[in-house]
Amino acid sequence: MKISRLVQVALADLRTFLSAFISVHLRPISEGGNMATQNPHLATDQKIIGDVYTSTEVMDNLTVLCDEFGSRFGGTPGEKQAAEFFKAKMEAYGLQNVHFEEVPYEGWRRGTVSLEILEPIQRTIPCISLPHSPPAQLEAELVDLDEGAPEDFDERAEEIAGKIVLATSEIKPKESKRWIHRNEKYGRSLLAGASGFIFVNHYPGYGPATGGIGEDGAGHIPAVGVALEDGRFLQRLLKKHGRLKLRLSSTDVVEPMVSWNIIGDLPGSNHPDELVMMGCHYDGHDISQGAGDPASGAVAVLEAARVLAQYATDLPCTVRFALWGVEEIGLIGSTQYVANHADELDNIRFYLNMDAAGAAPYKDIQLNQWENLAPVFEVWSEEMARDFRVGQSVNAFSDHYPFLMAGVPTGGMGGVRRPSSGGRGYGHTRYDTLDKVGMRGLREAAVFGARLALRIAHQIDWPAQRRSAEAVAEVLDNPDNQEETEIFDRIRAFYKEQHTNNH
Ligand SMILES: [Zn+2]
Repeated sequence: MKISRLVQVALADLRTFLSAFISVHLRPISEGGNMATQNPHLATDQKIIGDVYTSTEVMDNLTVLCDEFGSRFGGTPGEKQAAEFFKAKMEAYGLQNVHFEEVPYEGWRRGTVSLEILEPIQRTIPCISLPHSPPAQLEAELVDLDEGAPEDFDERAEEIAGKIVLATSEIKPKESKRWIHRNEKYGRSLLAGASGFIFVNHYPGYGPATGGIGEDGAGHIPAVGVALEDGRFLQRLLKKHGRLKLRLSSTDVVEPMVSWNIIGDLPGSNHPDELVMMGCHYDGHDISQGAGDPASGAVAVLEAARVLAQYATDLPCTVRFALWGVEEIGLIGSTQYVANHADELDNIRFYLNMDAAGAAPYKDIQLNQWENLAPVFEVWSEEMARDFRVGQSVNAFSDHYPFLMAGVPTGGMGGVRRPSSGGRGYGHTRYDTLDKVGMRGLREAAVFGARLALRIAHQIDWPAQRRSAEAVAEVLDNPDNQEETEIFDRIRAFYKEQHTNNH
């Protein structure tokens, strides 16, 4: 049926009128009662989301990393294979300037270890050495610090001297407000004159938990991890008999090694010198596949790179992707990167750390005390139609830390809402395996990271500037951080003194 020209014009006018009416009067109202934020990146978002959610690439990559390369722990063949895999993938995805950066460091290789009760009963306790534990032949009595509360180390220093300290991996001993890290408990044991350290996993059924000790190399006293069940057994025996004599023997090796950071860029067209960075370490602990921590985050970074390379074709700033080597034994790869790229640090708009992000129960953004960035991310939450929280905190336990200390604006993807149990769960045990990681979490982390990087690169006025050393010190200067800073300063001074004595 033919429609007369007049009717056609009338219909066109009606359509124009209706769409104008709808856009002015009927735009969806968001929860806060404001008009919904326009999304200037909608078309790119749709391509990114559509691609990631119709592809298995991110899980395929995780499967290769875990099942073919194993732990990827520093010094293993799988570490080098993983580094080459990331480089090849970045090149295949179309990133530019893809390259290795060598990371020389003091490495560690697991030898044999045994922990025996000598008196008053004889028993062997299954255990694993903690990375950077020095080789040992030690006989000493046990002292039980239980959760390892800081105040107990101070109060019981005399009791600790010469003995092997037992402390659990409880992250908030005696309801402490801050996370008391393994390395603090180990360091406080050193300062009190302990001769050895037993780290008891605070979760039942997960076996022993691992985790590096020491400071830029070997620790000063041997350290082993035991399962909760064996730790409780030791505690009961000590309580019953009043004293327990143990023997700890190990043949672990500390020696120079080389690792690799893998770096690749999507160059910006307007301000190629301005950088948005996202990264994650790829080394796991040698006792596990490190599937959740870190590989779920590493493949999310790689997947974000893949889709941004394909669909974010007009990036004004450069987006740089980094896969860090040897994080687990001291943030070594990222620390060396920050030292070696000092002349570029002023140009980094933001470093987004994705450690273990694909396995994190919530994908929120934890900013490291960047108050004026919070509103920017909150606007993006609306614009992206993706509900996430923006938190503010400071901690030293992943690759954002060297950037944070250098004043670079940083944040991490993970839960601002803390799961009630607290701690690492399967992380750092041999059960951090591929089967624990779901496709859904990987896709969510990859898409979220890609969409954020897109926005950080496109933001016209970026409201965060690199902090001066004084401003960094000020950020760390709250009562909790102060306590942490002071204790780690004392621990570092201890190592320095030992080092001078030995040479
Ligand atoms: Zn990690």
